[in-house]
Amino acid sequence: GIRSLLDLEKVAVLGHGNGGIVYKVHHKKNNSFYALKVLNFDRNGIGFRQPPTLEAEILKRVVDSPYIVRCHAVFYDHANVTPTLQTKGVSGDLSFVMEYMEGGSLHDILQQHRRLPEEVICVLAKSVLEGLNYLHGMNIVHRDIKPSNLLVNEKGEVKIADFGVSHVVEGRFEANDMNAGTCAYMSPERFDLERWGGENVDEFVGDVWSLGVVMLECLLGHFPLIGPQQRPDWATLMCAICFGERLEMPEKASEEFQSFVRRCLEKDWRKRGTVLELLKHPFVKRNSCCSNKVMRDYVLCR
Ligand code: ATP
Ligand code: MG
Repeated sequence: GIRSLLDLEKVAVLGHGNGGIVYKVHHKKNNSFYALKVLNFDRNGIGFRQPPTLEAEILKRVVDSPYIVRCHAVFYDHANVTPTLQTKGVSGDLSFVMEYMEGGSLHDILQQHRRLPEEVICVLAKSVLEGLNYLHGMNIVHRDIKPSNLLVNEKGEVKIADFGVSHVVEGRFEANDMNAGTCAYMSPERFDLERWGGENVDEFVGDVWSLGVVMLECLLGHFPLIGPQQRPDWATLMCAICFGERLEMPEKASEEFQSFVRRCLEKDWRKRGTVLELLKHPFVKRNSCCSNKVMRDYVLCR
């Protein structure tokens, strides 16, 4: 196991987020690479984020699914940050040592390939559904499913990362919380306070909505729901998500893809497809949707 941050050597910066910085680190003793996410208490616990300790609590629980980025260790102690690490910019109070996903995020992949074929989106959809099924089974709603939070490893496996705004649901239905997640991938009920505000909604199907947006973005090659010339500000997005009538579906999309995405992007959360329903959908049951090899060959041969 990883006993101390002292055993880790910083190799590169993998990403900057709202929450902190993610480094690629090398563990000398077992000669392997990890991702180290460092959260600073000073910059957290305000605004859109949960207190970082909640992210840690969730990460410590979600360790036995092949569809969730595995967290190997959590370090709370400021004392673990050595002067050497401090000079390298590691100053956080809370660090997570996670499995390293060599292929980067779906956001990086889309930057490079712009769009993905259905066989690849199928592997992605199936993996995210399996990951959501696992999380929801533990009463955890992710609330921030988007390309930069879906990571790929060298085997072509897709896993869900970043529990920075996730939530543990106490009852099946809970009061709406709009203050979480990236608004572009947020479901209508998360905005629609006038209608659902006082009411309790099923938070789990919000993750299904986000998956639908991601899939459409992958096939179209640009963010769906708003026109390419529109400025994606909060008001434009909110209007498109809550009131937009027309769903831009690529002409070449298969029947199965279209039907799957329509089930995800059903505006009324009561009628939307559930994770269990979609796991049985023909789009992810097709023969072509069977292996990570498709993802690996298409995405990782750069
Ligand atoms: P944001 O606020 O932008 O959502 P965040 O601060 O919550 O981000 P993460 O989403 O966990 O942080 O990570 C930010 C980025 O770092 C990811 O989009 C990805 O590019 C990279 N990254 C995170 N974890 C890993 C990992 N385990 N392996 C490889 N890269 C990773
Ligand atoms: Mg993120």
